[in-house]
Amino acid sequence: MELQIERVPTGEIIRVVGHKAERRTGLGANGIRLSMESALTARDRVGVQDFVLLENFTSEAAFIENLRKRFKENLIYTYIGSVLVSVNPYKELEIYTKQNMERYRGVSFYEVSPHLYAIADNSYRSLRTERRDQCILISGESGAGKTEATKKILQYYAVTCPASQQVETVKDRLLQSNPVLEAFGNAKTLRNDNSSRFGKYMDVQFDYRGAPVGGHILNYLLEKSRVVHQNHGERNFHIFYQLLEGGEEDLLRRLGLEKNPQQYHYLVKGHCARVSSINDKNEWKIMRRALSVIGFNDSEVEDLLSIVASVLHLGNVQFAADEQGNAQVTTENQIKYLARLLAVDGSVLRDALIHKKIIAKGEELVSPLNLEQAAYARDALAKAVYGRTFSWLVNKVNKSLAYKEEKFPGWRSTTVLGLLDIYGFEVFQHNSFEQFCINYCNEKLQQLFIELTLKSEQEEYESEGIAWEPVQYFNNKIICDLVEEKFKGIISILDEECLRPGDATDTTFLEKLEETVKNHPHFLTHKLADQKTRKSLGREEFRLSHYAGDVTYSVAGFLDKNNDLLFRNLKETMCNSENPIINQCFDRTELTDKKRPETAATQFKNSLAKLMEILMSKEPSYIRCMKPNDAKQADRFDEVLIRHQVKYLGLMENLRVRRAGFAYRRKYEVFLQRYKSLCPETWPTWDGRPYDGVAVLVKHLGYKPEEYKMGRTKIFIRFPKTLFATEDALEV
Ligand code: ATP
Ligand code: MG
Repeated sequence: MELQIERVPTGEIIRVVGHKAERRTGLGANGIRLSMESALTARDRVGVQDFVLLENFTSEAAFIENLRKRFKENLIYTYIGSVLVSVNPYKELEIYTKQNMERYRGVSFYEVSPHLYAIADNSYRSLRTERRDQCILISGESGAGKTEATKKILQYYAVTCPASQQVETVKDRLLQSNPVLEAFGNAKTLRNDNSSRFGKYMDVQFDYRGAPVGGHILNYLLEKSRVVHQNHGERNFHIFYQLLEGGEEDLLRRLGLEKNPQQYHYLVKGHCARVSSINDKNEWKIMRRALSVIGFNDSEVEDLLSIVASVLHLGNVQFAADEQGNAQVTTENQIKYLARLLAVDGSVLRDALIHKKIIAKGEELVSPLNLEQAAYARDALAKAVYGRTFSWLVNKVNKSLAYKEEKFPGWRSTTVLGLLDIYGFEVFQHNSFEQFCINYCNEKLQQLFIELTLKSEQEEYESEGIAWEPVQYFNNKIICDLVEEKFKGIISILDEECLRPGDATDTTFLEKLEETVKNHPHFLTHKLADQKTRKSLGREEFRLSHYAGDVTYSVAGFLDKNNDLLFRNLKETMCNSENPIINQCFDRTELTDKKRPETAATQFKNSLAKLMEILMSKEPSYIRCMKPNDAKQADRFDEVLIRHQVKYLGLMENLRVRRAGFAYRRKYEVFLQRYKSLCPETWPTWDGRPYDGVAVLVKHLGYKPEEYKMGRTKIFIRFPKTLFATEDALEV
């Protein structure tokens, strides 16, 4: 008989499940049979599976050494209490099998070795037993493995949750939403061959039996600029290459496309249309199948791909100047295709690409564009068309995932588990508006983390009347305020400049910033800096001291990107489109609405505020992803890179707090309900106060005074192993 192996909590000693008599025999991490003593010494080699067990828990060097040891043994997961730290192995490990999923199902968190599945299972069980909404927050920098982790968690639920025919459809759709959104929202970058260029929050809805019955996706800030420009060594969004590589001949003919990506201006900027790790043809097939599962019919697929093709044609529209210096379209062929694909009038589109229309005092003013302006208008249209189609796609996926009550009669009340896969902190050589938004988002998430774990932990101990040694931590609210405060915050000042008619520029924006926030301890510019620091700051830059470190932003393009304007006549043309998707994306009310549309930064700010509300209302779990090297290679552990990430992710602080406190706490009612069967006095019912019931129960179970504390409303258990033993008793 094949032996099932598991690790016990004290390190990496492995026991043979189902053979309790054999418990005293250990298996090493690599499967070699060891005596108990050598199993214990193996711990030196493979490190501890929970950083809480580190003797020298305040030492960053010890922390990194433990990570390194484990990484070397292919043990990529380690806990800090209930937070999972993951290091991208950049190779396929045999730890995501169905068999392994089963192994984590319904098993105590601390009983098995650290894994995504343990986090997934734990959240799922809290959702079911306590009926409390959950969320799993996955963070880390580009290439750290966030998206892979999200997908693996979804797969875990797809395999382990109860099934029925309706549920299978939902599971399928949840899984298949990924290839579609990745095709349109992911791209090859220098850091990651499959980099998500949008933030994603996905809710999975479960019915009372714990079966997934629906879902909903929120998307954040797609990097639209990639549609028209890519840095060297990077690509446009996958879908373009998939379509050219995998699209059937007659489809490409209908779309007026040639197979060769080199033909398209929007695909050649990065000089790397082909990537060895990506099989575009295969991905195309997967994406096409996924569209069908989600419920696209043939004509919808055609409408969608027409838009993808139209972006490529737009990129090839070129202009020449006439005698007056006004732009004229020189590529009639492209206009012909565009007219067909976008289902608009060709001559109207041609005109709209080379003119600008303004409505002033009720009168229309049309003026010609020069070459530069026309190219700008064309690119703006490409970005708008692509960006809005992406949002439409998310909407379409959401319709397909929507919980349909009539299909699940009587399963009215649902609980929700959310998965957040969002860009990590970014510091590049050159940082612009996009990095500003992304890092602001990370400040908010860090604040949430502080609120939900560090701060609330301390406050809870206090309110429960349990002694607590305060842990010093940096509260980054001050930076969030600097960015988002009304009137005085950076976004407010940026919006103000964007709205100011006349001569507002990126530079005047910077000057306003300097005036308004000059004394802020986390803000610096060339002018405000002392002589020594001044050298490191350009005149067009400002520096923010983020919780994770200093980032210098160049203001160039801030106004433009924040305004995100599309000339009115292009908007009008799109509103008249008979392509049903474009038609839904460009709403006529935009043309008549007197109110200015919200700026990009304000939209982002508002959507983040909503996200924070959503996350606050749920019980969070954390997965902190790290990448071991910049070369995307297996078995390489770059200590400098890891140290940075340990810092950005705030892991040392996290560990300090965990070590200071208790591993587990539960309300007396919940605790009693779960374990009352273990004590004759509390079983089947306890009539007195839950507090007294729990006191009787733990006395019966033989808890020692140093193992737990009784708070005002909850019991606090110091060590995981105490709880673990109680859980075990339940299962016998
Ligand atoms: P981004 O912020 O750029 O979207 P990310 O954190 O989502 O980055 P992923 O796309 O999840 O990063 O991972 C990058 C690559 O690393 C994957 O394409 C895969 O090759 C590898 N990888 C990540 N996690 C694992 C894993 N658990 N096992 C094997 N390979 C992995
Ligand atoms: Mg990703």
